Amino acid sequence: MAKTARLVAQGDEITTGATIDTNSAWLAERLFERGIRVLGTGSAPDDLDLLTRLLLDSSRDCDLVISTGGLGPTTDDVTAEAVAKALGVPLVENAEALEQIRARFRVIGHPMTPSNAKQALLPRGAGLLENPAGTAPGFAVDLGRSRAFFFPGPPHELHVMADRHLFPWLEAQGTAPLLRRRFHVCGVGESVLQDRLADLALPEGVRLGYKTWLPFNTVLLYGEPDAVERLERAAVDVRARVGENLLGEDDETLPQVVGRLLLARGWTMALAESCTAGGASALATEVPGSSAWFKGGVVAYSNEVKTKLLGVPEALLAEHGAVSEQCAGAMAEGARRATGADVGASITGIAGPDGGSPDKPVGLVCFGLALPAETSTRTVRFGIRGRDRVRTMAAATALEWLRRRLAAGSS
Ligand code: AMP
Ligand code: MG
Repeated sequence: MAKTARLVAQGDEITTGATIDTNSAWLAERLFERGIRVLGTGSAPDDLDLLTRLLLDSSRDCDLVISTGGLGPTTDDVTAEAVAKALGVPLVENAEALEQIRARFRVIGHPMTPSNAKQALLPRGAGLLENPAGTAPGFAVDLGRSRAFFFPGPPHELHVMADRHLFPWLEAQGTAPLLRRRFHVCGVGESVLQDRLADLALPEGVRLGYKTWLPFNTVLLYGEPDAVERLERAAVDVRARVGENLLGEDDETLPQVVGRLLLARGWTMALAESCTAGGASALATEVPGSSAWFKGGVVAYSNEVKTKLLGVPEALLAEHGAVSEQCAGAMAEGARRATGADVGASITGIAGPDGGSPDKPVGLVCFGLALPAETSTRTVRFGIRGRDRVRTMAAATALEWLRRRLAAGSS
């Protein structure tokens, strides 16, 4: 049974920094979930000797080597050659691989070039791995102590091929996946979360982890394959401690939960966005079928649009400014009025890097929420830097506030 792995990312684009090696991160996460320990990751440029050496080194002390990249049709893609060299076997044309490449070109309606035929040259004895998403077939060989898998570099091709060839192979080997529960949180930072969970007594075989992926924080519980009940016991404790900030679990997403809560009441929503300029609307509509509860949004960047499309009084803007709770409340009500939605939510703030003042510093964002029975407003001072990050946090916070109000039974 495979217990350990090394990852190899191949290509000049990786070693020159032009492409970030997301393939290894993607693989590492999935191997970890399957209880496989990654002993290290490595990379090599498009250089036959360096790659051969890396493959030989990597395959010395682990059960599994997974390499991505270098299977393309160009002369700089040398993976197959390096594997043949490491094994001491010749490259031979694989008839099945050639037919798969031909079939692929028939589907996309392009003529096949001689350099594509090069992709059918595999180390003698290699097991072919069909690529349903691109022209470069993958392959697998026994190398050193390892079973070594070679996948193409484009991430979507890797994902399809790992799902089809790697994970089923691991299952057939008897690797039992770790149990995993995820608890998604928005609106409290990692340190607050950590404090709330600090003295949690975890049952044996259960581990706790964190993942921050702006604008969310996820608390992770991992359990050994036989720890089903113990994991559920720990999950009850985590839920209680995270409390009202728990927006969803496992595959649930913030907009999904908002949509579910709105649909349960037969309500629709609309947005009025200043500093996020559509970011919250884009987040809401990530969910398929969101048209059942999301009516639309107004990007009200200038004061003129706030007044004309949302009916924010000019006098209010003159007195309190566009970044104010008064304006946020009027925008939220305006979004409701303009669209006929049951709920209007609004965002107006200072994303930076310029435009801040001692009163209203960069990162200060006002939110409005107009529900059928009442309108409320709040201000959040985001302690993060960077225009994109403030906008991302603001968009999520608007939906998260709505989620919490709906979950708490506000009307
Ligand atoms: P290759 O199979 O080496 O021709 O790679 C084709 C493309 O896949 C590259 O141009 C990159 O865009 C992408 N790619 C290759 N390796 C990686 C990697 N380790 N992480 C993310 N993308 C990659
Ligand atoms: Mg390459």
